[in-house]
This record gives sequence, structure tokens and C-alpha cells, in this order.
Amino acid sequence: MKTFIVGNWKLNFNVGEASVYLHKIQRKIANYRDVEVVVAPTALCLQPLSLQLDRSKIKLAAQNAFYRDFGAFTGEISFAELKGLVNYCIIGHSERRYIFHEDDKMIAKKVAAAIRNGIRPILCIGEIESERAFGETADVIKDQLFGGLSEVSVEDISKVLIAYEPVWAISSTKDAKIATPDEIAEVVGLIRENLKEIYGAKIAEEVPILFGGSVKPTNAGAYLTVPGVNGLLIGGASLILDEFVDIIETAKRVK
Ligand code: PEP
Repeated sequence: MKTFIVGNWKLNFNVGEASVYLHKIQRKIANYRDVEVVVAPTALCLQPLSLQLDRSKIKLAAQNAFYRDFGAFTGEISFAELKGLVNYCIIGHSERRYIFHEDDKMIAKKVAAAIRNGIRPILCIGEIESERAFGETADVIKDQLFGGLSEVSVEDISKVLIAYEPVWAISSTKDAKIATPDEIAEVVGLIRENLKEIYGAKIAEEVPILFGGSVKPTNAGAYLTVPGVNGLLIGGASLILDEFVDIIETAKRVK
């Protein structure tokens, strides 16, 4: 399986800044067959960046989209509109869940809409600090996984990527902590157990699972060698070109 290195730019970089970044990174990295490099700019950047993109080196992801393809939904963009522009879409990021109140039902519809439109969903799941403290991590993971995948058939699960992002480890969270490889390994094991329950043992092993939460060049290697981890979802460090490139190089080496 490839290693996935996904940069989530969130609400950073306007079109000009994003274009300069893309220009620079495409000069710095080669076509790494075993490492899939993906960046997720703001929606407004997707069209111009798609024209500038060297798809042999880097792919685009959207950060969000609405689950209906068209209609009276003021302010939304659809997966149907993103078709052809992006290969991936981040869905259910903790900022969408906790700032924009997206629940598992809505997230499931978005996952289904992405697949319907030929876009691979990167389904984000993860517990908040108090849930971990109260021993609820396994239940939260199960609920978010069963909820988010409720509309995904056994035929389509191969299109899905899961990102385990403990919310307490995301760098923008107040008093963020660093997750240890053991903590990650335990939850990744739970995720595979749940996937096995829904889709069977073989498929459970084939779904890529990414880790996200304060990934930096200094810890990327350790996280990428956690059993069952197939890539990284990176926020803050993906905004710093040299750090993101460093993480890509680490992924290439670890592979
Ligand atoms: C994220 O928000 O998805 C994330 C992983 O951010 P950071 O790398 O900054 O913790």
C-alpha cells in the first residue's frame, strides 16, 4: 500500500500564496511512486491550482463539501462540482464536527456523496480529551466509524481512507498534547477491529489509516512506523514548505 501524506491547509493561503507554494513544492519533490502527496487548500484555490498541478507529483483534496449535488443550498459547494478538480475530500474533520456541528449522519451522507462523484473520502475520527479521560475512546471510535461509514457498501469501502485524529493532539486545540506511538497503535487496532466487524477481515487490512495530530518532521518517522498506520494528515506543519517536504522525504525513506 502507498503511504499517504496529506496537508490540510485549513483557512490559510489565498490563491496567490497557494499558487506560489505549489510552484515551489513541485520543484522540490519528485514523482514518488510509493508516496501519495496530497494538499487540501481552500475551496476557492482548487480551480486555479488544478490548472497548475503536476498530478504525477501531487494531488488535490477539498476540505469539505455538501452532500447534495445541486439545488437550493445557499453558500454550499457540491461534490459534483469538485469532480475532476480533486481526487480526495477530507470529511468529518474535528473542526467541522465541533465548530460547525456536523454529526455522524451528515458525515455519512457526505462520504456517500464523495464516492458517488468519484472522490475518495478521508473520513476523520477521534476522541476529545475528556472522552479519553473517561475511558470512552473505544466507544467514540466505534460510533464515529459505524456512523460515518453507514452508507458505504462493501464494494465501495476500498475508496475510503480513515484518518485517526485525537482532537487533544491537534496543534490548534488549546493545550494540545503529543500522542505517543503506543496510544496511536492501540486506537488503530480498534479501528481495524471495527472495520473487520463491518466489512470482513481482508478488507479491514486494506483500508488506509492515517494519523493526524501535531505531526512534525521530528516525529513523522516514529508515527509512520506505528503498526497499521499508512500515512499522515498534517495541519500546521503542512503550511511550512520545508517542514512538509521533510515529512514527504521521511515517508519515502521509511517506505
Ligand atoms: C489537523 O487539524 O488535521 C491537524 C492534524 O493539525 P495539526 O497537524 O496542526 O495538529
